[in-house]
Amino acid sequence: MSICGGIAGRRGQNPVGIFFHNDAGSKKATKKYYESWLKTHNLKNGFAHYYVCSDGTLQAEDDTNKAWHCGQSDGNANYLSIEICQSMGDIATFQKNEETALQLAAQKCKQYGITPSMDTIRLHQEVSATDCPHRSVEIHGGRTATKQYFIDRIKAYMGETTVTTAIENNMEDDDNMKCFYTVDGKGPVMYFDGYAVHPLAHQDEMTVLNNIYRDCTGKNIPCYSWSSKAPWYVRLKNAISR
Ligand SMILES: [Zn+2]
Repeated sequence: MSICGGIAGRRGQNPVGIFFHNDAGSKKATKKYYESWLKTHNLKNGFAHYYVCSDGTLQAEDDTNKAWHCGQSDGNANYLSIEICQSMGDIATFQKNEETALQLAAQKCKQYGITPSMDTIRLHQEVSATDCPHRSVEIHGGRTATKQYFIDRIKAYMGETTVTTAIENNMEDDDNMKCFYTVDGKGPVMYFDGYAVHPLAHQDEMTVLNNIYRDCTGKNIPCYSWSSKAPWYVRLKNAISR
């Protein structure tokens, strides 16, 4: 059984989103601290599903149960709640906890099919007269910016933004103007580096150039087989030497 024992009741459906909180505790407000605090604290005064601390994350209530965390019935009934702890302590500890909380949120979004958005990723202060999550809002520049930051990080942790593109690598179109080519299928493989053409002396040279390019762009260098009957390599050389 969970620490809070389902005291706020069962939800009866999957959570539709996640509320974030900052628990105004110092460096000492660790997982160990919450474990004993929750057992002696009057739960009617509030508790969340998760407490993310520097020494680990405490799950205080099952996801299938409600929690009294935001003072609003829809939020308490239908949303998961995550406390980012140690918000009064040093910034590095707090930010580490915040990242861990966002990873946890990504995991929960995947588990319950929640799409991170302004409607599903919520802050306590949206529904109650409170500064909570005070430290996150202070660091990220206000309520909307904090929500957007959380949404972006959660999406990244969900793996939606891991595709590397040339744009993300700050590559210009010209940087991608590379190719290999052969003429009539014989002779050396030629390498065009975007500026000049170089004959390659070994198969491994083609391999290493392509590996570097692929690691930078996520794509292979295109490879052309040109014929002396339609001498595109001559056109290329003419075009770049003029
Ligand atoms: Zn709160």
